[in-house]
Amino acid sequence: MDRIYLCLAHMSGNEMQYIQEAFDTNWVVPLGPNVDAFEKDLENYVNGKGVLNKRVVALSAGTAAIHLGLIMLGVGKGDEVICQSFTFAASANPITYQGATPVFVDSEPDTYNMDPQLLEEAIKDRIQKTGKKPKAIIPVCLYGMPPKMDEIMEIANRYEIPVLEDAAEGFGSKYKGQICGTFGEFGVMSFNGNKLITTSGGGALICSNEEAKKRVMFYATQAREPYPYYQHEQIGYNYRMSNICAGIGRGQMTIVDEHIGHHRWVHEQYVAKLAGIKSVVVHSVPEDDMEPNYWLSTIRFENGKHTIDGDLLPLIGKLSDAGIETRPLWKPMHLQPVYKDAPAYVNGVSEHLFSCGLCLPSGPFVGTREINYITNNIIENL
Ligand SMILES: *Cc1c(COP(=O)(O)O)cnc(C)c1O
Repeated sequence: MDRIYLCLAHMSGNEMQYIQEAFDTNWVVPLGPNVDAFEKDLENYVNGKGVLNKRVVALSAGTAAIHLGLIMLGVGKGDEVICQSFTFAASANPITYQGATPVFVDSEPDTYNMDPQLLEEAIKDRIQKTGKKPKAIIPVCLYGMPPKMDEIMEIANRYEIPVLEDAAEGFGSKYKGQICGTFGEFGVMSFNGNKLITTSGGGALICSNEEAKKRVMFYATQAREPYPYYQHEQIGYNYRMSNICAGIGRGQMTIVDEHIGHHRWVHEQYVAKLAGIKSVVVHSVPEDDMEPNYWLSTIRFENGKHTIDGDLLPLIGKLSDAGIETRPLWKPMHLQPVYKDAPAYVNGVSEHLFSCGLCLPSGPFVGTREINYITNNIIENL
């Protein structure tokens, strides 16, 4: 059997046609018809048959999308931004790019995402300590599981703090029928090679209206003013997606529903196979109105033995020797040396998840045979 990876890119077969078009018309540049068409595809997708009216800007990375979102929200030197602690560093790093300080908020145990109660405590405490409100809130759709968006949006609206949703791992996940990334003022998508759909590398920012989209495009193309010569009145970035990458994205959009269907199927198989094992919990949807994409299926060991300082890393080594790629869950940002001085509001949830959690192969080449092999290997090593 070939090595089984967590999540690999999976081409639909339609990608080359769009790339070929770009070559034939000599649009081998940033911007071009594929970028426009990919943005249209994404807008149609997130707007769900015209229920919403969001706009999407295709960018060079999800990280670039977070950065531009923060710029759009006016985040700058001396500001604070609340960010989910249990996440990949890319959620938080752009806060630092802006000279602002991240304030980390821990997770609740149902979705593994931002704990609304702790969020409110953090807001109150920051106002008391600094005399001003945090500039933005970044909840994350971790492993494709939607955060408790109703509660988070209610608090954000009450304190009038804008929300920048990091849905980089949650492409196509839904909360109460609405696509994740469309609840806040801005939403972030990633098309990195290991994400649910890929453009080899890339991302997008979901914007609330056309005006915001134009502004994001301005910052993403070096903040060039509309003059016949190169006039710059603000600092800009080179963050646009290339026309070649967007061609891959257009191809991927033709099979996105099948992709998501497959990830959900893989999750169901893990649940079925591990149902009888008391010490292993497969993370599953806590509420009926959440529809995760299950980008990665994750389990946690509740046996006190397979922990990060105990038998978890040796188990990962054994699985790797058997040709199975697994990985611990994200190490919370408040435990990262680089963020040791950042304020953090914690409750032990993300530390527990990091200590006993494992990501399992969930991508396109994981079928029934692979699931049996993976789960048997885990059970044998308990
Ligand atoms: C992948 C990822 C990002 C960043 O996306 P890139 O396209 O890799 O820059 C941001 N946040 C989370 C949670 C991610 O998993």
